[in-house]
Amino acid sequence: MSELNELYQETILEHNKNPRNFRKIEDADKTALGNNPLCGDALQVYLKMDGDTVADVAFKGSGCAISKASASMMTQAVKGKTREEADKLFDEFHRMVTGDLDIETDENHLGSLRAFAGVLEFPARVKCASLSWHTLTAALHDSGEASTE
Ligand code: ZN
Repeated sequence: MSELNELYQETILEHNKNPRNFRKIEDADKTALGNNPLCGDALQVYLKMDGDTVADVAFKGSGCAISKASASMMTQAVKGKTREEADKLFDEFHRMVTGDLDIETDENHLGSLRAFAGVLEFPARVKCASLSWHTLTAALHDSGEASTE
């Protein structure tokens, strides 16, 4: 299990160092700001929609390694997905980091997002890991802003 945790840590550190889709989408259809005042994480998510499908997704901002890596992996996970699929994935992610979903035994579509299962043990980090997802949801559903408070 500790080896597994190390592998997950490497994934998170690598995404923090080289975040994917770390840019602004100039002609974004939807955008939202996310804030996690507890840690100081702040990011903006940009979406380009094709009907109900996420054609492109990107983010900008600053924050801790967990929040940045989570945003990076979130963009990879939801690109090409419908709004409904993205909502479902966030639900699974949220249940994983709050302990309601066991990645070993419960059916899920989390894939590499499983790297964040370990934050369950660090309650303050759950907000860091969830921030980009809350922000994505705010953008997808046109509520404009998301806060973990
Ligand atoms: Zn953070």
